[in-house]
Amino acid sequence: MRILVTGGAGFIGSAVVRHLIVDKGYDVLNLDSLTYAATLGSLKPVKNNPRYRFQKADVRDGLAIASAFSEFRPNRVMHLAAESHVDRSITGARDFVETNVLGTFNMLECARNYWESLKPAERTEFRFIHVSTDEVYGSLADGDLFSETTRYDPSSPYSATKAASDHLVKAWARTYGLPILISNCSNNFGPYHFPEKLVPLAILNAIEGKPISVYGDGRHVRDWLFVEDHARALDLIAGRGRTGESYNIGGRNERQNIDVVRSICSIVDSLIPARRPREELIRFVQDRPGHDMRYAIDGSKLQTELGWAPLESFESGLRRTIEWYLGNEWWWGPLRKNYDGARLGLTTPGD
Ligand code: NAD
Repeated sequence: MRILVTGGAGFIGSAVVRHLIVDKGYDVLNLDSLTYAATLGSLKPVKNNPRYRFQKADVRDGLAIASAFSEFRPNRVMHLAAESHVDRSITGARDFVETNVLGTFNMLECARNYWESLKPAERTEFRFIHVSTDEVYGSLADGDLFSETTRYDPSSPYSATKAASDHLVKAWARTYGLPILISNCSNNFGPYHFPEKLVPLAILNAIEGKPISVYGDGRHVRDWLFVEDHARALDLIAGRGRTGESYNIGGRNERQNIDVVRSICSIVDSLIPARRPREELIRFVQDRPGHDMRYAIDGSKLQTELGWAPLESFESGLRRTIEWYLGNEWWWGPLRKNYDGARLGLTTPGD
Protein backbone atom coordinates (compact mmCIF):
# COMPACT_ATOMS: atom_id res chain seq x y z
CA MET A 1 0.00 0.00 0.00
CA ARG A 2 1.41 3.42 -1.00
CA ILE A 3 -0.13 6.36 0.85
CA LEU A 4 0.39 10.02 0.09
CA VAL A 5 -0.12 11.97 3.32
CA THR A 6 -0.30 15.78 3.30
CA GLY A 7 0.50 17.69 6.49
CA GLY A 8 2.42 14.73 7.91
CA ALA A 9 4.80 16.97 9.88
CA GLY A 10 1.91 18.37 11.95
CA PHE A 11 0.34 17.05 15.13
CA ILE A 12 -2.22 14.58 13.74
CA GLY A 13 -0.43 13.99 10.43
CA SER A 14 2.73 12.79 12.19
CA ALA A 15 0.66 10.39 14.34
CA VAL A 16 -0.92 9.08 11.12
CA VAL A 17 2.47 8.63 9.43
CA ARG A 18 3.90 6.82 12.47
CA HIS A 19 0.84 4.54 12.60
CA LEU A 20 0.88 3.73 8.86
CA ILE A 21 4.58 2.87 8.84
CA VAL A 22 5.20 1.32 12.27
CA ASP A 23 1.89 -0.49 12.88
CA LYS A 24 0.70 -1.15 9.32
CA GLY A 25 3.92 -1.48 7.30
CA TYR A 26 2.72 0.82 4.49
CA ASP A 27 4.87 3.01 2.25
CA VAL A 28 4.28 6.69 2.92
CA LEU A 29 5.15 9.88 1.08
CA ASN A 30 4.78 12.78 3.52
CA LEU A 31 4.15 16.00 1.65
CA ASP A 32 4.36 19.11 3.85
CA SER A 33 5.34 22.74 3.30
CA LEU A 34 6.75 22.97 6.86
CA THR A 35 4.87 25.97 8.25
CA TYR A 36 5.44 27.19 11.82
CA ALA A 37 3.20 24.29 12.99
CA ALA A 38 5.38 21.56 11.48
CA THR A 39 8.03 19.72 13.46
CA LEU A 40 10.14 17.14 11.68
CA GLY A 41 11.21 15.89 15.13
CA SER A 42 7.73 14.33 15.41
CA LEU A 43 8.83 11.92 12.67
CA LYS A 44 12.00 10.79 14.46
CA PRO A 45 10.56 7.26 15.03
CA VAL A 46 10.21 6.73 11.23
CA LYS A 47 12.69 9.05 9.59
CA ASN A 48 15.25 6.30 8.86
CA ASN A 49 12.64 3.70 7.90
CA PRO A 50 12.96 2.74 4.19
CA ARG A 51 9.16 2.91 3.90
CA TYR A 52 9.19 6.65 4.71
CA ARG A 53 9.76 9.48 2.24
CA PHE A 54 9.46 13.22 2.75
CA GLN A 55 8.93 15.97 0.18
CA LYS A 56 8.74 19.64 1.10
CA ALA A 57 5.86 20.93 -1.01
CA ASP A 58 2.91 23.26 -0.73
CA VAL A 59 -0.55 21.85 -1.42
CA ARG A 60 -1.29 25.02 -3.42
CA ASP A 61 1.57 24.22 -5.82
CA GLY A 62 -0.10 22.38 -8.70
CA LEU A 63 3.11 21.32 -10.46
CA ALA A 64 4.76 19.94 -7.32
CA ILE A 65 1.64 18.01 -6.29
CA ALA A 66 1.02 16.62 -9.78
CA SER A 67 4.59 15.35 -10.02
CA ALA A 68 4.35 13.80 -6.53
CA PHE A 69 1.30 11.85 -7.76
CA SER A 70 2.94 10.65 -10.95
CA GLU A 71 6.25 9.69 -9.28
CA PHE A 72 4.92 8.07 -6.08
CA ARG A 73 1.78 6.53 -7.66
CA PRO A 74 -0.30 6.33 -4.46
CA ASN A 75 -3.20 3.93 -3.88
CA ARG A 76 -4.52 6.34 -1.26
CA VAL A 77 -4.34 10.00 -0.33
CA MET A 78 -4.83 11.20 3.23
CA HIS A 79 -5.22 14.98 3.11
CA LEU A 80 -4.48 16.63 6.45
CA ALA A 81 -2.47 19.72 5.48
CA ALA A 82 -4.26 22.78 6.79
CA GLU A 83 -3.95 25.90 8.85
CA SER A 84 -5.52 24.67 12.06
CA HIS A 85 -5.38 27.25 14.87
CA VAL A 86 -8.68 29.08 15.42
CA ASP A 87 -7.07 32.09 17.16
CA ARG A 88 -4.70 32.62 14.23
CA SER A 89 -7.64 32.42 11.82
CA ILE A 90 -9.21 35.38 13.66
CA THR A 91 -6.10 37.57 13.48
CA GLY A 92 -5.25 36.57 9.86
CA ALA A 93 -7.67 34.51 7.79
CA ARG A 94 -5.92 34.69 4.40
CA ASP A 95 -3.58 31.72 4.92
CA PHE A 96 -6.60 29.68 6.02
CA VAL A 97 -8.56 30.49 2.87
CA GLU A 98 -5.56 29.83 0.66
CA THR A 99 -4.36 26.56 2.20
CA ASN A 100 -7.61 25.05 3.42
CA VAL A 101 -9.79 26.01 0.45
CA LEU A 102 -7.49 26.55 -2.54
CA GLY A 103 -5.04 23.89 -1.33
CA THR A 104 -7.84 21.33 -1.08
CA PHE A 105 -9.13 22.34 -4.53
CA ASN A 106 -5.63 21.78 -5.90
CA MET A 107 -5.30 18.39 -4.18
CA LEU A 108 -8.66 17.34 -5.65
CA GLU A 109 -7.74 18.39 -9.17
CA CYS A 110 -4.36 16.62 -9.00
CA ALA A 111 -6.00 13.51 -7.52
CA ARG A 112 -8.68 13.54 -10.24
CA ASN A 113 -6.18 13.85 -13.10
CA TYR A 114 -4.10 11.05 -11.63
CA TRP A 115 -7.13 8.81 -10.89
CA GLU A 116 -8.51 9.26 -14.41
CA SER A 117 -5.14 8.14 -15.82
CA LEU A 118 -5.14 4.84 -13.86
CA LYS A 119 -5.97 1.39 -15.24
CA PRO A 120 -9.47 0.15 -14.24
CA ALA A 121 -8.21 -2.16 -11.44
CA GLU A 122 -6.08 0.62 -9.95
CA ARG A 123 -8.97 3.08 -10.24
CA THR A 124 -11.21 0.83 -8.16
CA GLU A 125 -8.63 0.63 -5.40
CA PHE A 126 -7.86 4.39 -5.22
CA ARG A 127 -9.28 6.49 -2.37
CA PHE A 128 -8.94 10.09 -1.22
CA ILE A 129 -9.69 10.78 2.44
CA HIS A 130 -10.19 14.38 3.48
CA VAL A 131 -9.54 14.96 7.17
CA SER A 132 -11.89 17.54 8.64
CA THR A 133 -13.31 18.73 11.93
CA ASP A 134 -16.54 18.74 13.94
CA GLU A 135 -16.21 22.55 14.07
CA VAL A 136 -17.92 22.71 10.65
CA TYR A 137 -21.22 22.04 12.47
CA GLY A 138 -20.99 25.14 14.70
CA SER A 139 -22.15 25.31 18.32
CA LEU A 140 -24.35 22.62 19.84
CA ALA A 141 -27.20 22.88 22.34
CA ASP A 142 -27.01 20.86 25.57
CA GLY A 143 -28.07 17.25 25.10
CA ASP A 144 -27.63 17.21 21.30
CA LEU A 145 -24.88 15.40 19.38
CA PHE A 146 -23.37 16.10 15.95
CA SER A 147 -24.26 13.40 13.45
CA GLU A 148 -23.13 13.09 9.83
CA THR A 149 -26.39 14.75 8.74
CA THR A 150 -26.12 17.79 11.03
CA ARG A 151 -26.35 21.01 9.01
CA TYR A 152 -23.06 22.86 8.49
CA ASP A 153 -22.99 26.14 10.44
CA PRO A 154 -19.34 27.21 10.98
CA SER A 155 -18.51 30.14 13.29
CA SER A 156 -14.80 30.94 12.89
CA PRO A 157 -12.72 31.67 9.78
CA TYR A 158 -10.96 28.32 10.46
CA SER A 159 -14.16 26.28 10.58
CA ALA A 160 -15.64 28.19 7.60
CA THR A 161 -12.62 27.26 5.47
CA LYS A 162 -12.81 23.62 6.59
CA ALA A 163 -16.54 23.59 5.77
CA ALA A 164 -15.79 25.04 2.32
CA SER A 165 -13.16 22.36 1.73
CA ASP A 166 -15.60 19.60 2.76
CA HIS A 167 -18.13 20.93 0.20
CA LEU A 168 -15.48 20.92 -2.53
CA VAL A 169 -14.60 17.31 -1.72
CA LYS A 170 -18.27 16.27 -1.91
CA ALA A 171 -18.66 18.10 -5.22
CA TRP A 172 -15.66 16.27 -6.72
CA ALA A 173 -17.35 12.98 -5.79
CA ARG A 174 -20.77 13.92 -7.20
CA THR A 175 -19.51 15.71 -10.31
CA TYR A 176 -16.44 13.68 -11.29
CA GLY A 177 -16.98 10.42 -9.41
CA LEU A 178 -13.73 10.79 -7.45
CA PRO A 179 -13.75 8.11 -4.71
CA ILE A 180 -13.56 10.29 -1.62
CA LEU A 181 -14.29 9.94 2.09
CA ILE A 182 -14.59 12.71 4.68
CA SER A 183 -13.90 12.43 8.40
CA ASN A 184 -15.10 15.01 10.93
CA CYS A 185 -13.30 14.56 14.23
CA SER A 186 -13.55 16.20 17.62
CA ASN A 187 -10.66 17.89 19.46
CA ASN A 188 -7.48 15.83 19.65
CA PHE A 189 -4.82 15.75 22.34
CA GLY A 190 -1.63 13.75 22.81
CA PRO A 191 2.16 13.80 22.35
CA TYR A 192 3.79 16.11 19.76
CA HIS A 193 0.96 18.68 20.04
CA PHE A 194 2.18 22.19 19.16
CA PRO A 195 2.31 24.20 22.40
CA GLU A 196 -0.10 26.98 21.41
CA LYS A 197 -3.19 24.76 21.76
CA LEU A 198 -5.09 24.49 25.05
CA VAL A 199 -3.87 21.10 26.33
CA PRO A 200 -0.12 21.31 25.63
CA LEU A 201 0.05 24.98 26.62
CA ALA A 202 -1.67 24.27 29.94
CA ILE A 203 0.65 21.28 30.54
CA LEU A 204 3.83 23.26 29.88
CA ASN A 205 2.69 26.32 31.83
CA ALA A 206 1.76 24.06 34.76
CA ILE A 207 5.19 22.38 34.60
CA GLU A 208 6.97 25.74 34.42
CA GLY A 209 4.74 27.47 37.04
CA LYS A 210 3.44 30.06 34.55
CA PRO A 211 -0.12 31.51 34.40
CA ILE A 212 -2.65 29.29 32.59
CA SER A 213 -5.21 31.31 30.62
CA VAL A 214 -8.75 30.02 30.13
CA TYR A 215 -11.27 31.76 27.87
CA GLY A 216 -14.45 33.29 29.38
CA ASP A 217 -15.83 31.32 32.31
CA GLY A 218 -14.12 28.11 31.12
CA ARG A 219 -17.43 26.33 30.59
CA HIS A 220 -16.99 25.69 26.85
CA VAL A 221 -17.37 21.96 26.20
CA ARG A 222 -15.15 19.96 23.85
CA ASP A 223 -15.25 16.22 23.10
CA TRP A 224 -11.64 15.02 23.49
CA LEU A 225 -9.98 12.19 21.56
CA PHE A 226 -6.46 10.79 21.99
CA VAL A 227 -4.56 11.44 18.76
CA GLU A 228 -3.49 7.81 18.22
CA ASP A 229 -7.14 6.73 18.30
CA HIS A 230 -7.83 9.31 15.59
CA ALA A 231 -4.95 7.95 13.47
CA ARG A 232 -6.34 4.41 13.72
CA ALA A 233 -9.83 5.62 12.80
CA LEU A 234 -8.52 7.43 9.72
CA ASP A 235 -6.73 4.33 8.44
CA LEU A 236 -9.87 2.28 9.00
CA ILE A 237 -12.10 4.78 7.19
CA ALA A 238 -9.62 5.12 4.33
CA GLY A 239 -9.46 1.35 3.91
CA ARG A 240 -12.98 0.12 4.62
CA GLY A 241 -15.30 3.15 4.69
CA ARG A 242 -17.94 3.55 1.96
CA THR A 243 -16.75 6.01 -0.65
CA GLY A 244 -18.76 9.20 -0.93
CA GLU A 245 -19.58 9.06 2.80
CA SER A 246 -18.68 11.19 5.81
CA TYR A 247 -17.74 9.64 9.16
CA ASN A 248 -17.77 11.45 12.50
CA ILE A 249 -14.99 10.49 14.92
CA GLY A 250 -15.28 11.12 18.65
CA GLY A 251 -14.56 9.46 21.96
CA ARG A 252 -17.60 10.63 24.01
CA ASN A 253 -15.22 12.51 26.28
CA GLU A 254 -17.11 15.74 26.80
CA ARG A 255 -15.30 18.03 29.21
CA GLN A 256 -15.55 21.71 30.09
CA ASN A 257 -12.27 23.52 29.35
CA ILE A 258 -11.90 24.47 33.02
CA ASP A 259 -12.16 20.80 34.03
CA VAL A 260 -9.53 19.81 31.43
CA VAL A 261 -7.16 22.43 32.84
CA ARG A 262 -7.90 21.41 36.45
CA SER A 263 -7.19 17.74 35.58
CA ILE A 264 -3.88 18.77 34.01
CA CYS A 265 -2.93 20.76 37.13
CA SER A 266 -3.75 17.87 39.43
CA ILE A 267 -1.81 15.27 37.37
CA VAL A 268 1.21 17.60 37.19
CA ASP A 269 0.93 18.14 40.99
CA SER A 270 0.98 14.37 41.49
CA LEU A 271 4.03 13.91 39.25
CA ILE A 272 6.09 16.91 40.40
CA PRO A 273 4.93 18.05 43.85
CA ALA A 274 4.99 21.83 44.35
CA ARG A 275 4.47 24.05 47.39
CA ARG A 276 1.20 25.46 46.04
CA PRO A 277 -1.43 23.63 43.94
CA ARG A 278 -1.06 24.46 40.21
CA GLU A 279 -4.78 25.34 40.02
CA GLU A 280 -3.75 28.70 41.51
CA LEU A 281 -2.08 29.46 38.14
CA ILE A 282 -5.45 29.52 36.32
CA ARG A 283 -6.57 32.96 35.01
CA PHE A 284 -9.87 33.61 33.27
CA VAL A 285 -9.43 35.94 30.27
CA GLN A 286 -11.84 37.69 27.92
CA ASP A 287 -13.60 35.20 25.65
CA ARG A 288 -12.72 35.14 21.95
CA PRO A 289 -15.31 36.28 19.38
CA GLY A 290 -17.42 33.57 17.75
CA HIS A 291 -16.39 31.01 20.41
CA ASP A 292 -18.66 27.95 20.05
CA MET A 293 -20.09 26.82 23.38
CA ARG A 294 -20.25 23.08 22.92
CA TYR A 295 -19.13 20.30 20.55
CA ALA A 296 -20.04 16.63 21.01
CA ILE A 297 -19.89 13.80 18.51
CA ASP A 298 -22.24 10.93 17.76
CA GLY A 299 -19.66 8.43 16.47
CA SER A 300 -22.07 5.49 16.16
CA LYS A 301 -21.79 5.23 12.35
CA LEU A 302 -18.03 4.62 12.55
CA GLN A 303 -18.47 2.22 15.46
CA THR A 304 -21.30 0.21 13.88
CA GLU A 305 -20.02 0.08 10.29
CA LEU A 306 -16.30 -0.29 10.91
CA GLY A 307 -16.04 -1.55 14.49
CA TRP A 308 -13.82 1.32 15.66
CA ALA A 309 -13.60 2.20 19.35
CA PRO A 310 -11.09 4.40 21.15
CA LEU A 311 -8.43 2.49 23.09
CA GLU A 312 -7.43 5.37 25.37
CA SER A 313 -9.69 6.94 28.00
CA PHE A 314 -9.47 10.69 28.50
CA GLU A 315 -7.79 10.29 31.91
CA SER A 316 -5.20 7.69 30.83
CA GLY A 317 -4.49 9.59 27.60
CA LEU A 318 -4.00 12.83 29.52
CA ARG A 319 -1.57 11.19 31.95
CA ARG A 320 0.37 9.62 29.04
CA THR A 321 0.48 13.02 27.33
CA ILE A 322 1.77 14.83 30.42
CA GLU A 323 4.42 12.16 31.01
CA TRP A 324 5.46 12.49 27.36
CA TYR A 325 5.92 16.28 27.71
CA LEU A 326 7.92 15.76 30.92
CA GLY A 327 10.32 13.43 29.08
CA ASN A 328 10.63 15.29 25.78
CA GLU A 329 11.81 18.85 26.37
CA TRP A 330 14.15 18.39 23.35
CA TRP A 331 10.94 18.52 21.23
CA TRP A 332 9.02 21.37 22.85
CA GLY A 333 11.82 23.53 24.32
CA PRO A 334 12.85 25.16 21.00
CA LEU A 335 9.18 25.60 19.96
CA ARG A 336 8.44 27.50 23.19
CA LYS A 337 11.58 29.62 22.83
CA ASN A 338 10.90 30.62 19.21
CA TYR A 339 7.11 30.99 19.51
CA ASP A 340 5.79 33.90 17.44
CA GLY A 341 2.36 34.11 19.12
CA ALA A 342 3.03 37.25 21.18
CA ARG A 343 4.03 39.13 18.01
CA LEU A 344 0.71 38.09 16.47
CA GLY A 345 -1.25 39.10 19.58
CA LEU A 346 -1.97 35.47 20.54
CA THR A 347 -1.73 35.37 24.30
CA THR A 348 -4.52 32.94 25.10
CA PRO A 349 -4.88 29.26 24.30
CA GLY A 350 -7.12 28.16 21.49
CA ASP A 351 -8.54 24.67 21.21
P1 NAD B 1 -1.25 21.13 12.52
O1 NAD B 1 -1.43 22.60 12.43
O2 NAD B 1 -0.56 20.54 13.70
O3 NAD B 1 -0.46 20.60 11.22
C1 NAD B 1 -0.75 21.03 9.94
C2 NAD B 1 0.37 20.59 9.00
O4 NAD B 1 0.02 21.00 7.67
C3 NAD B 1 1.73 21.22 9.34
O5 NAD B 1 2.75 20.25 9.29
C4 NAD B 1 1.92 22.24 8.23
O6 NAD B 1 3.28 22.48 7.89
C5 NAD B 1 1.15 21.61 7.08
N1 NAD B 1 0.69 22.63 6.13
C6 NAD B 1 0.02 23.78 6.39
N2 NAD B 1 -0.19 24.47 5.27
C7 NAD B 1 0.33 23.72 4.25
C8 NAD B 1 0.41 23.89 2.85
N3 NAD B 1 -0.09 25.00 2.25
N4 NAD B 1 0.99 22.92 2.11
C9 NAD B 1 1.50 21.81 2.69
N5 NAD B 1 1.48 21.62 4.03
C10 NAD B 1 0.90 22.56 4.80
O7 NAD B 1 -2.71 20.52 12.35
P2 NAD B 1 -3.34 19.23 13.04
O8 NAD B 1 -3.89 19.59 14.35
O9 NAD B 1 -2.40 18.10 12.93
O10 NAD B 1 -4.59 18.99 12.06
C11 NAD B 1 -4.45 18.19 10.89
C12 NAD B 1 -5.77 18.13 10.16
O11 NAD B 1 -6.76 17.58 11.02
C13 NAD B 1 -6.28 19.51 9.73
O12 NAD B 1 -6.85 19.38 8.46
C14 NAD B 1 -7.33 19.85 10.78
O13 NAD B 1 -8.32 20.68 10.24
C15 NAD B 1 -7.87 18.46 11.11
N6 NAD B 1 -8.41 18.31 12.48
C16 NAD B 1 -7.69 18.70 13.57
C17 NAD B 1 -8.21 18.48 14.85
C18 NAD B 1 -7.43 18.85 16.09
O14 NAD B 1 -7.95 18.72 17.21
N7 NAD B 1 -6.16 19.27 15.99
C19 NAD B 1 -9.47 17.88 15.00
C20 NAD B 1 -10.17 17.49 13.86
C21 NAD B 1 -9.63 17.70 12.60
